[in-house]
Amino acid sequence: MTKRLLLAASAALALSVPAFAQTAYDVPALRDAALNGDTLAWDITEGLTTEIGQRLAATEAEGRARAWAVKKLTALGFKNVHIETYKMPVWVRGEEKAEVVGPSAQKLTIAALGNSGSTGPKGVEADVAYFPTLADLQAAPAEAVKGKIVFISHAMTATQDGSQYGVFGGARRAGPSLAATKGAAAVLIRSIGTDYHRNPHTGVTSWADGVKPIAAAALSLPDAEQLERLFKRGPVRLKLLVTPQFKGEAELGNVIADVPGSDPSAGIVLIGGHLDSWDLGTGAIDDASGVAITTAAAKHIMDAGQPRRTIRVVWFGAEEVGGFGGEAYAKAHANERHVLATELDFGADRVWNFETNLPDSAKAIADRLATALAPIGIARSRGAAHGGTDVGPVLRNGVAGIDLSQSGLRYFDYHHTPDDTLDKIDPVQLRQNVAAWTAMLAIVANAPEDIGSVPATHE
Ligand code: ZN
Ligand code: ZN
Repeated sequence: MTKRLLLAASAALALSVPAFAQTAYDVPALRDAALNGDTLAWDITEGLTTEIGQRLAATEAEGRARAWAVKKLTALGFKNVHIETYKMPVWVRGEEKAEVVGPSAQKLTIAALGNSGSTGPKGVEADVAYFPTLADLQAAPAEAVKGKIVFISHAMTATQDGSQYGVFGGARRAGPSLAATKGAAAVLIRSIGTDYHRNPHTGVTSWADGVKPIAAAALSLPDAEQLERLFKRGPVRLKLLVTPQFKGEAELGNVIADVPGSDPSAGIVLIGGHLDSWDLGTGAIDDASGVAITTAAAKHIMDAGQPRRTIRVVWFGAEEVGGFGGEAYAKAHANERHVLATELDFGADRVWNFETNLPDSAKAIADRLATALAPIGIARSRGAAHGGTDVGPVLRNGVAGIDLSQSGLRYFDYHHTPDDTLDKIDPVQLRQNVAAWTAMLAIVANAPEDIGSVPATHE
């Protein structure tokens, strides 16, 4: 190596050592202060669910929630607080009634799925075609479905990792479109949930290209099992009235707030949750607690001094109805260098493990995370981080992720039901979440390693 090259190499080395005014964080102290004393996550969750209530995407309530978020984030001292708008189709709930007709005439409890079509004001009356699983509907010939009210069941159970939602949730996500292509008059599903309250679980369904939406609704678990018992006794006929409406396009938005870093070349750490909720409860666990925990953690880092990397908190809009906020953010910020993206959208129960997909050059970050998180009961998993709907579009561009996985044992008892309310939040577990996120941010935002990209996974 020539002397000139050596000089250049040492200059490059000097450049790679941060010469910035970043704060050296005491990670265990920050973690334990949050664990024992955070009040901000509760304050945000309580405020948003009390002062705004339900926040269905594209409604006036979601707009009020955005204004609330801007005011809150500004008061907390975040920089660059602003709303970025985009457009999406609007869907609003109408009437919803179901009743068995004939000798066992009785009412059933239902809730329309997001994007459901309408039966029209007169409703539909038809025989029921019962499919114990989505696969049974897939295998059924069209003549077994045509003109019928299709009822799709499933056998989801509660698990710590919540993974059965992905599997059994197909009945909701894809079942109605499949039934419509086979000529069904309407669709009922067993709620994608694990509780026996007489509360149906709503949630979005999507229609394949060219498929005309039909009425699609969820039965509460007790009602779904009632229908199954009736079906064992003989043919069942139902009368259904489901009248939601699509109301054109509306302008929506993401709320963005930064904790500016000292080294702009080190990239952005993107965190957040979603601001919108379903319209049945007040969206405490889905996802007020997600925006609250991530915001509280970023605030604790801000108060401890300037980080090396910019921490960006996004309160995403319109996640529930199709991930519009996440897509809009990724598009609008494609030219910025994100080095890590992670979201919280799984309630407020304790974090029990974590996963990463950091590039090899930054693997030591995961080792430091393991050390910092073990004392609060969080184990390192061998799995890879996969993110969620909101940061998914950013991750698919090749940005690394970290998943702090929360316990899902209670989550699907309340998810997307009228029972998703503040009283379901356990303040002790909420603080453990803030502690985990604060420790994670302290490590990641200040990591001296260059966090490079990972292989992109988008189509
Ligand atoms: Zn959510
Ligand atoms: Zn949700």
